Parts: sequence; C-alpha cells; structure tokens
Amino acid sequence: MTSPWAGRRPARPPAGVERPGAAGSSRAYIGGGRQPVWIFDLDNTLHDANPHVFPHLNRAMTAWLMSELGLDHAAADHLRAHYWHRYGATLLGLMRHHGTRPAHFLHGTHDVEALRPGIVFDRAVRHLLRRLPGRKIVFTNGPLHYAEAVLQATGLDTLIDGVHAIEHSRYTPKPRRTGFLHLLRDFGLRPSRCIMVEDTAENLRTARRLGMRTVWISRSPAHHPYVDLRLPSVLQLPRARALTRA
Ligand SMILES: [Mg+2]
Repeated sequence: MTSPWAGRRPARPPAGVERPGAAGSSRAYIGGGRQPVWIFDLDNTLHDANPHVFPHLNRAMTAWLMSELGLDHAAADHLRAHYWHRYGATLLGLMRHHGTRPAHFLHGTHDVEALRPGIVFDRAVRHLLRRLPGRKIVFTNGPLHYAEAVLQATGLDTLIDGVHAIEHSRYTPKPRRTGFLHLLRDFGLRPSRCIMVEDTAENLRTARRLGMRTVWISRSPAHHPYVDLRLPSVLQLPRARALTRA
C-alpha cells in the first residue's frame, strides 16, 4: 500500500508556512565526524504500516474532510485521493484550496492513541540499529508527533539521533528536493556521508541526485539506476557495510 503522504508530483511550496525551530531533542545537530549517517524512512521501512496504520490514516483523513468541509463520504474520499494525486499529499491541496492550517489537519488525522495498537514491527530492528555504526536520522513525510509515537512504540526512540518530519520539510513531501535540503542544512550533513534507506524508490532518486548513497527496501525485482543496493528487509542492512566505505 502506498503511503498517504507519498509524494508523486512536484508541487510548489505552500505559502506562509512557519518553519519549526531546530531546537529540541529530535533536532540534534549531527554534522562533522567521519562516520556514516543513516537516513531512514519510517513507514514500511522501520515498521509495517500496511496492516493497520495506513488504512486507519486514510479513514481518518476522509472523516476529517467530511467533518471540516461538510462532504459526504464518497465526496470526501474522492477529494482526499484527488489532492494526493495532484499535490503529492492531501494536506497540500487542503492548504492551497481551503486555507487549512497544517497542524490542525495533522493532529486531527493522526491520533496516536488510536494508531498505537496497530503498529506492527519486528523487534530485531532495534538490535540492528544498536549494532549499526554511525548516526541515524528518521526522515518521514508524516508529522513529528506521529513519528515520535511510532519510534516510542517500537522502542527505537533511544537509538535514533534525530527526526526530520513533514513540518521540518515545510510540508513539502519526499521526493521533492526542498525537504532534503532542509534535512541537510538542519543537521549539518554532507550528502556524501549519508546513506538513505527507503521503501519508496522514487524518494531515492532525489537522494542520489544530491549525492547520497541509497538502499531500497523492497522485494520488487525492478532495477533503478539510482539505487545502490536493494534489500528485502531493513534487517539485511549489515550487507550495506560496503556502502559506508564508498
Ligand atoms: Mg515508506
């Protein structure tokens, strides 16, 4: 299942969006040093969002559109999908056409108490991250409060050095370049030190163009020139050690 936040087409940055401050435990400055920096996607990379989380989010977004815009279920579901296809994220369409405040939408649709019981993950990922040399950042198209709740539920929160959420990308989702540039600047990263790990191949295209190395988490037999290594699971990541010496 494709992420409700998955970016598909380039869209102009939304106007009037405040950039969150870089202070706080989830925004640690990482630059310098010689160790690799692992840039992890969150959904369907570090946990399995398909069984419960993504269906829940889609239902929540449709319900939000019904309530806020006075639409029936069919019209709300159509509009949610329409904005997602047109702008790469339902939120961007709402901001552009309805003046929606991002925080209002993101908190109204990402009820972490409701989502938490549906988070499916492999405890071995925690062991993997503990052993993996280098710093680790989560780069997600989801909102910060959701990312932090998932990391806490999976026990990965203490193993991650920073979170770059959609707020920090000025609500411009991957694969758009804007969010990547904010990520590099906010954490003081050199792309040549970064290895991006993602289940959405298109997002790796941007990463490679910026000079990162790329690991695609997928069972697809497809080949992409911007993918350095394809692995069926993030648990196979120790096989990517060669990339850290590239
Ligand atoms: Mg993903």
